[in-house]
Amino acid sequence: MTTIVFGLFGLIVGSFLNVVVLRHGVRSTLGRSGCMSCGTQLRWYDMIPVVSWLALGGRCRVCRARVSFQYPLVEAATAVGFGFIGASSLPMFSQIIGGIILALLICIAAYDMLHTIIPDEWAYAFAGLALLFQFLVPHIGSFSTWMVLAGPLTALPLFALWFFSHGRWMGLGDAKLALGIGWLLGPAEGLFAVFGAFIVGGVVSAPLLVVSSEWWRRIVQKFTPTQTSRNLVWGFTMKSEIPFGPFLILSCIILWFSSINGIDPLQALGLLPS
Ligand SMILES: [Zn+2]
Repeated sequence: MTTIVFGLFGLIVGSFLNVVVLRHGVRSTLGRSGCMSCGTQLRWYDMIPVVSWLALGGRCRVCRARVSFQYPLVEAATAVGFGFIGASSLPMFSQIIGGIILALLICIAAYDMLHTIIPDEWAYAFAGLALLFQFLVPHIGSFSTWMVLAGPLTALPLFALWFFSHGRWMGLGDAKLALGIGWLLGPAEGLFAVFGAFIVGGVVSAPLLVVSSEWWRRIVQKFTPTQTSRNLVWGFTMKSEIPFGPFLILSCIILWFSSINGIDPLQALGLLPS
């Protein structure tokens, strides 16, 4: 029951997150949403999370312009994540903090996919909340010096990659994001999350690099319906074609949710003694 209520709430939060991601640094999150191409204001039945996008085949009702796949993806991910947190045995306050952390991570992933940039304030807010979450949920691991060091320790390899490649292999934003990942998961699992992100990222981007920009260009087109936003995004993505943030976040959420459920993935894989 809690799962369903949290999940439905997640759908609504997810559609708000879409607005946040889209308008961050551009304009206020208040005000009505319109089609990115023709400017037609959306009616209530065009804004039902996931359902409206599917019913309209991912296109605007009026001008039939493609509507970004980001919308249903963010809504569905938030719903599933919230449902999971609702189903967990975490105390109420930790569930609320957990929900905010999840919402932030989804925003960061979506924004990074669009712009290959991670907004500083989101990365730092996540880091702060991750530390708070560790205080609140002591069963994940006792709060110790190791816990405090977990953030910088997890960020270190990515920071080194950024530093030695002069920002070509890795963005500094990814290192800032890893700070929060370390604090959320602890040192061992934090580093494992970074490692996992490289594996998943490598598997996904190796064929991408082979097929090169053409494939990526089509993804960019799907995510950015108007020509202006496409130019903007394409301008950004030329520099570092594949954002690393979404891989880090995916890997982090999987490890985080397993540890919330009392499963230590490192022990489960036999990498740590139980
Ligand atoms: Zn339209």
